[in-house]
Amino acid sequence: MILFKRADELKQYLLKHSLPGKKRGFVPTMGALHEGHISLIRRCRQESGLVICSIFVNPTQFNDPADFEKYPITIENDILLLESAGTDILFLPSVNEIYPDGTPSEHYALGDIENLLEGSFRPGHFQGVCQVMFRLLRAVEPHLLFMGEKDYQQCMVIKQLLRLMESSTELVISPTQRETSGLAMSSRNMRLSEKGKETAAIIYQALRWIKAHLQKGPTDGLIDYANAMLTAAGFDKIDYISIAHADTLIPVTSWDDNTPVVALAAAFLEQVRLIDNLALN
Ligand code: AMP
Repeated sequence: MILFKRADELKQYLLKHSLPGKKRGFVPTMGALHEGHISLIRRCRQESGLVICSIFVNPTQFNDPADFEKYPITIENDILLLESAGTDILFLPSVNEIYPDGTPSEHYALGDIENLLEGSFRPGHFQGVCQVMFRLLRAVEPHLLFMGEKDYQQCMVIKQLLRLMESSTELVISPTQRETSGLAMSSRNMRLSEKGKETAAIIYQALRWIKAHLQKGPTDGLIDYANAMLTAAGFDKIDYISIAHADTLIPVTSWDDNTPVVALAAAFLEQVRLIDNLALN
């Protein structure tokens, strides 16, 4: 595995080593890698000729500075995991390398999706995601971009960014990796106690309950029940549980038995904010 800290050096290398028919696959991450990330690297390895991963904890997507400060850094372990999963290139830029002119001010026309769900609880988050992804995509210019379904809304936002960039990069959305309890793997899970990890799995149970009971008609009863499950389990605060259109993420208050829908949830446990989602049909 070759490590680059500078975008111009990475670009030069990619220019020299690109061959017709050799697909460049890219997995952007914020490090603190776990099996969820590694599943993306493995898929990238299967589907691409060159596997590029980035680790960059992007300050502009944290609306809460304390959350940014607390973000786990495990770089030595990350490097070992990436190497054994078959990564060819690790891009590990500094904040100054990504944002040499300081805090970026550009705005991406993402439409309603940036103000729904995650967007309404984390103002500016998706603009920050696009600011960094725009720069990473320009540096790597991948044929294939691998992202996790775990961050479902983020995937929909990046689809929109690719459209805005008129990019030919193809987005590959890869399934959420879970613990045996059903808890979606996340770098944030490290901050939960053992008991907290058990309780956190209730989020997935609530989403599965919604899936099992979804039928034509109003959806509010399902959401109320899922909220009650989380409250009874001891979650500190529930930001949202939503049944939403799978593309637009606009809430579906009455389901017609046909529209593609996804259930999404965000809730706090032991002061850790957890998110998860499940396709319902
Ligand atoms: P992050 O480091 O949290 O920015 O995540 C980097 C990439 O890994 C994103 O595309 C995430 O959606 C993906 N990812 C994170 N957790 C999981 C998981 N449990 N299963 C699959 N993909 C994941």
